[in-house]
Amino acid sequence: MAGKNQSDKPLKTQILIIGAGIAGTTLALLLADKGMSIDLVDPYPPESPAKTKLTGRTVALMQTSLNVLKAAGLSEFLEQHGTKMKKMRIIDDSISDQPVIESEFEASDIGLEYFSKNIPNCPLRSHAYAAAKKHKNITIHEGESLEDFTVEQGLRVLATLSSGKTIKTPLIIGADGRGSLVRKLSGIKASQKKYGQSAITCIINHSRSHENTSTEFHRPSGPFALVPLQGNQSAVVWVESHERAEELIKLKKQDFTEALQNKTNNILGGITLETNPEMWPLCAIKAKSLTAPRTALIAEAAHVMSPITAQGLNLSLRDVASLAETIIDAYRLGQDYGSETILKSYASRRSLDIQTRFFGVDKMNSIVSNDIKPLKDLRRNALKLVDRVTPIKTFAMKHGLAPTLDTGRLMAGKSL
Ligand SMILES: Cc1cc2nc3c(=O)[nH]c(=O)nc-3n(C[C@H](O)[C@H](O)[C@H](O)COP(=O)(O)OP(=O)(O)OC[C@H]3O[C@@H](n4cnc5c(N)ncnc54)[C@H](O)[C@@H]3O)c2cc1C
Repeated sequence: MAGKNQSDKPLKTQILIIGAGIAGTTLALLLADKGMSIDLVDPYPPESPAKTKLTGRTVALMQTSLNVLKAAGLSEFLEQHGTKMKKMRIIDDSISDQPVIESEFEASDIGLEYFSKNIPNCPLRSHAYAAAKKHKNITIHEGESLEDFTVEQGLRVLATLSSGKTIKTPLIIGADGRGSLVRKLSGIKASQKKYGQSAITCIINHSRSHENTSTEFHRPSGPFALVPLQGNQSAVVWVESHERAEELIKLKKQDFTEALQNKTNNILGGITLETNPEMWPLCAIKAKSLTAPRTALIAEAAHVMSPITAQGLNLSLRDVASLAETIIDAYRLGQDYGSETILKSYASRRSLDIQTRFFGVDKMNSIVSNDIKPLKDLRRNALKLVDRVTPIKTFAMKHGLAPTLDTGRLMAGKSL
């Protein structure tokens, strides 16, 4: 086989990361910077930053997540490409013969300049990947995928790649997304729920300024969000039933733009499409465990959520930060960083945050995407209450931003 090890002996690495998405690549950069040798595997590498095109996918990342990416060396990119989200507006216009309920949340009310920065997905991944390619401690197996792995005597992993290469390591990390093969091969079970909904994403140009405000409409078919980008551009996340989303995505450009224009209630003035619409089927997946012998899961390999409230990658970057700290602390002390004790400590650090966010987002998705009258009333009354009672509003804003337990040093903006 073309890429087989030349000597037929397995290659050796301190950590093998499967999946070079944003989460896997960020983890590789953090660990490699502290002197560990990292092997990173992905069958679909991104284009170089110069060739990467804008797509409709963006991520709203909170300060704690930005701190993790900065520690991985991505400050300059975030400065240039991030758009500050200073205000959030929620509009419930789900009952046609009743008044629209609107609530606004200002970052300055909780002493912040902004809640989050909205960042285009593909350029972020491409910049992180380019930095990993240049790093002397990272070996990338580009265009290859994991095929199989076994744990030998509980001490090390022997992994086989699609090229036939074999790699030995004390720790394998599954950052291989929602269909994670690492999760399956390690025997970690996962619960799965299909929402029957899809998100349509695209970027629009608009005639009015967004004033650094993100707007989320709560409607029975699902949420519809407009998230600010640089200049007079915004990212659209439009959730509909899967069937309706398929109909919309097949419309001619002009008809789609018209449907989208109606959906915005004209709050941004006239719109044109900057990128073609794309469709993402939504589901919830949760791994029953974050670890197995010599194995750890992070990001979407461990949890997939609805994009409502923009929590997905934020939660994933908190996995990245906790795992990087746990590994590096053990490595500095000369301990076995792939041992059961160390992996258990990673899992226990992450458990509460993942449970509460995962179930919170799932419940929120059901309440928002619902046409049942009592649930619509509950949703509208809750929004009124949050809007009128200042302490509840402040709590909602602070708790929505970051976990209050175990923030760790990377999330707090300190070095690893
Ligand atoms: C419409 C939408 C909007 C969103 N908005 C937000 C938001 O505003 N804020 C937010 O925080 N999150 C948001 N999210 C979530 C966020 O986009 C995802 O959590 C994130 O992109 C997933 O990153 P990841 O690294 O976990 O997985 P992925 O990006 O899926 O990376 C996994 C990688 O593993 C590789 N791989 C797979 N199998 C193998 C194998 N066998 N061997 C080797 N490699 C393999 C794949 O090629 C891939 O590159 C949104 C999601 C959606 C759908």
